[in-house]
Amino acid sequence: MGELAAEKHVRYILSIEKKKDSFESVVMEHLRMNGAYWGLTALDLLGKLDTLDVDEVVSWIMSCQHESGGFGGNVGHDPHILYTLSAVQVLALFNKLDVIDVDKVTNYIVSLQNEDGSFSGDIWGEVDTRFSYIAICCLSILHRLDRINVEKAVKYIISCKNMDGGFGCTPGGESHAGQIFCCVGALALTGSLDLVDKDLLGWWLCERQVKSGGLNGRPEKLPDVCYSWWVLSSLIMIDRVHWISKEKLIKFILDCQDTENGGISDRPDDAVDVFHTYFGVAGLSLLEYPGLKPIDPAYALPVDVVNRIFFSK
Ligand SMILES: [Zn+2]
Repeated sequence: MGELAAEKHVRYILSIEKKKDSFESVVMEHLRMNGAYWGLTALDLLGKLDTLDVDEVVSWIMSCQHESGGFGGNVGHDPHILYTLSAVQVLALFNKLDVIDVDKVTNYIVSLQNEDGSFSGDIWGEVDTRFSYIAICCLSILHRLDRINVEKAVKYIISCKNMDGGFGCTPGGESHAGQIFCCVGALALTGSLDLVDKDLLGWWLCERQVKSGGLNGRPEKLPDVCYSWWVLSSLIMIDRVHWISKEKLIKFILDCQDTENGGISDRPDDAVDVFHTYFGVAGLSLLEYPGLKPIDPAYALPVDVVNRIFFSK
């Protein structure tokens, strides 16, 4: 089996970070805040976050904040709950949460909760269990979970649970591994995991492992490195990770590396990107691959960062 080309991945991530105006390409422009989270969290897991200019990153993040309290994907872009969580997570990585007006960010998230407990992603109103996770994770990091109706939020998530044990984006929506991570994560962060049918869901999740060792997101789909994160973190949260072959999954992720120029792709021999580089490194971290910092499966942040948020002060 190959080894993790850690140094090359660090160089790859730093090279993207330097292309300030595009963070990967023009297509990624509106996603730059998410790109910053993926790249910087991967760097931290690789133990190399200190190679960056903290003040520069923090001032760019703050320039993406909107009057409403939410953050946009880049300077001058409309705010969305997706980018707001990424902004808060990156500030947490750098131990810089004190630069934000916590109540302002909190009020923005609180304003997105609907009467049925669900969350919209922005003022346009699209509802999705992804946004429930994001709201709960973000408010938990800010110590403001008490500002939303948690009981209703949990009830809505449970209304998206399917017969197969999985979860969809809205009630009746098909089970999907990314959505399952969001729902299980939100339930974990609110102390509600007793509402998950762990054996049934664990069975559905472990069936995501295909012959090559990789994981797919739904039945009959191709394996993809990003599901190493969504499936694995869910299996860990419900205590069923021993139901898949860790060795085979490690091999699959390592096979998706560009060992020449760094970066990780979705499948072997495809083009690398920062999204799959992050999920590959994060997946290996969950698999306790040597040399990587451990990552928290619910907060999607390094364990030492989570500990700093909750156990220091
Ligand atoms: Zn993918």
